[in-house]
Amino acid sequence: GGRAEPLLRVAGLSVGAPGGPRIVDGVSFEVPEATTVGLIGESGSGKTMTARAIIGLLPGGVEAGGTLRWRGEDLLGAGPGRRRAVRGREIAMIFQDPLAALNPTQRIGRQVGEILRRDGLPRREVRRRVVELLGLAGVPEPEERMRRYPHEFSGGLRQRAMIALALAGSPALLLADEPTTALDVTVQARILRLLRSVQRERGLAMLLVSHDLRVVAHTAHQVVVMYAGRVAERGAARQLLARPAHPYTAALVRSVPAVRTRSALATPLPGSPANPAERPAGCAFHPRCPLARERCRTRVPEVREVAPGRFSACHFAAEVFGS
Ligand code: SF4
Repeated sequence: GGRAEPLLRVAGLSVGAPGGPRIVDGVSFEVPEATTVGLIGESGSGKTMTARAIIGLLPGGVEAGGTLRWRGEDLLGAGPGRRRAVRGREIAMIFQDPLAALNPTQRIGRQVGEILRRDGLPRREVRRRVVELLGLAGVPEPEERMRRYPHEFSGGLRQRAMIALALAGSPALLLADEPTTALDVTVQARILRLLRSVQRERGLAMLLVSHDLRVVAHTAHQVVVMYAGRVAERGAARQLLARPAHPYTAALVRSVPAVRTRSALATPLPGSPANPAERPAGCAFHPRCPLARERCRTRVPEVREVAPGRFSACHFAAEVFGS
């Protein structure tokens, strides 16, 4: 038989203003059930726009093209009512800044309970589930804290409250966009542990968007590396980080000492990130690539499967992968 349809299939996704440059250009990957996919790239890589296209929250003036299939259903072709129904329920999102998701004038418990109330659950059951969700998200003394307002919470607690809020609708996919970037290192590690355990316990799929390779390396089963609005490389996390098949991934790995185990020395990435609005011709990475040759300046590399499940958009992927 054929392969089962993944939970989410992104195929040839593009995002941009009509007639303008494509901020996201032909991005394809899949999110299987109960799997964490890390979407990694520097600023301007298009990772956040990709996440926003998936959840249907693009800024004004830009449009998405290509294919987004949610359990086989065409999301880009769905009407606004259906998109709203999917958003927050089947697909939920957590952000870098929890204040963007939390209502400052409402008690935490009331906000988390809202989706449950909409489902017509009786009050006592709503209360029980709110306490349970806050506890699951690691909020200590949830019965007391559910009566508090967001401004009475620390940054880490707000992040936990937002996670509880996102889980209230029992989503099948959680989009987490830089969920720990604003937090200090200790809190960051705790939130990531929490996300990992929630992912496992609830059998959730997660799309973890981050610029930080360390965040993705320890949490994701699969990794999609984006550069200048395109996929540079994707595949199983461990294998991809241990043996990159794209010079950009290799440079990323070298830039983080904790990921590169063979050496304590990190080599910073040369040059500055490409701006997808002024994407270099050919391979967008060529101005920064140590392996760039003539053909890299003129021809856009296609995404090719270099090993089972491993895809790279480099003319010389076989060379990089084999070295
Ligand atoms: Fe480097 Fe060329 Fe590969 Fe691009 S296609 S990553 S420039 S070797």
